[in-house]
Amino acid sequence: MTTQGSPARGNNLDPWYHHYADRTSGLAASEVRALFAVASRPEVVSLAGGMPYVSALPPELVTAAMERAMTDHGPTALQYGSGQGSPALREQILEVMALEGISGSVDDVVVTTGSQHALELVAKLFLDPGDVVIAEGPSYVTALVVFRSFQAEVAHVAMDDLGMIPQSLRETIARLREQGRRLKFLYTIPSFQNPAGVTLSWERRMEILEIARENDILVVEDNPYGLLYFDAPPPQAMRSVDDEGVIYLGTFSKTLAPGLRVGWALAPHAIREKLVLANEAAVLSPSSFTQTVISQYLAVADWKAQIDTFRGVYRERRDAMLAALGERLPGLEWTVPTGGFYVWLTLPENLDSKAMLPRAVKELVAYTPGTAFYGDGGGRNKMRLSFCYPSPEFIREGIRRLANVIDGELEL
Ligand code: PMP
Repeated sequence: MTTQGSPARGNNLDPWYHHYADRTSGLAASEVRALFAVASRPEVVSLAGGMPYVSALPPELVTAAMERAMTDHGPTALQYGSGQGSPALREQILEVMALEGISGSVDDVVVTTGSQHALELVAKLFLDPGDVVIAEGPSYVTALVVFRSFQAEVAHVAMDDLGMIPQSLRETIARLREQGRRLKFLYTIPSFQNPAGVTLSWERRMEILEIARENDILVVEDNPYGLLYFDAPPPQAMRSVDDEGVIYLGTFSKTLAPGLRVGWALAPHAIREKLVLANEAAVLSPSSFTQTVISQYLAVADWKAQIDTFRGVYRERRDAMLAALGERLPGLEWTVPTGGFYVWLTLPENLDSKAMLPRAVKELVAYTPGTAFYGDGGGRNKMRLSFCYPSPEFIREGIRRLANVIDGELEL
């Protein structure tokens, strides 16, 4: 029997290989994904994933919100909803964003299935094959996957301890313009960056907005960690001073729970309409049920106190990681995050963190190799260490094992 596509069969494990759209060529499993399977074994201390420590959220708070969602709002919670998201929740999202200095209209908030989905929608609206997205180097791995899946290229801009370097941004834009490339937007995670852990200073936020304006480049400000500061709040969001040039992405994944899958975009008014159409095309409407649960949670629970609880948990883990690094790897350099989930570690030049990973896993510790966070092969001697999920005790043990692996590599 002949079947469609049969000539390709036998050449590849996937018999439909030749039918995939060109844009899927960038959809290779990320290094982070491949790691999850190994690192989830209980004997491995995983400093690899970015999973929020949801056990710090009392389950009864969510149960109460679920019960209220059903008893008081059952028919709406179980029904399709607006493609833009529930009006009640959008009002409450404005209250959350006000904590970061952002004021906006409820009309300009679009609720999405996590901020990852908002990233996908923004990419779908703006990216044609061959376009360029500018992003920090390193940048969030799954944003890079999205941009690649729309056949766009990522141009990385160097960072230091104060975030993206404005002069590098100017130079990158000039170089790309000279090459005749189409620049679509600047993707940035200004606060407690994933993976570098650093925070963009206020002065730089202003300068980068100015550069974007001069060059007619939209800014996509991705801010999942902004409220998870350990000492003082980070500088206010870029969106707080620019309604027209910034799409802001927010999420309940880190301040509440990622399993609910609710995030949002606050877009310039003109873009908002297209975002809603793209959202409808993708999901008709974001989950009415989880939106109602979150809305009830925000209405009844002391959600600000809960965010404080999360801050305390992550601060203690950050402290444990920094102390262990200082003790075990005093010759190396790492970033000192003042919020969020991540530390970025630099190995000696001659070490390759990806090549070293199998050895680390054998020693029962996992991390994410630096190259995952670059679209251009950068980050060879870097790694991301997450302190969000393991207990302080496990973090100390993980860093001890990691130091042994690094010492062993240096002796080879
Ligand atoms: N952006 C960044 C920078 C992230 O770190 C994450 C999650 N790790 C996301 C977006 C996606 O988050 P969610 O879809 O859960 O809102």
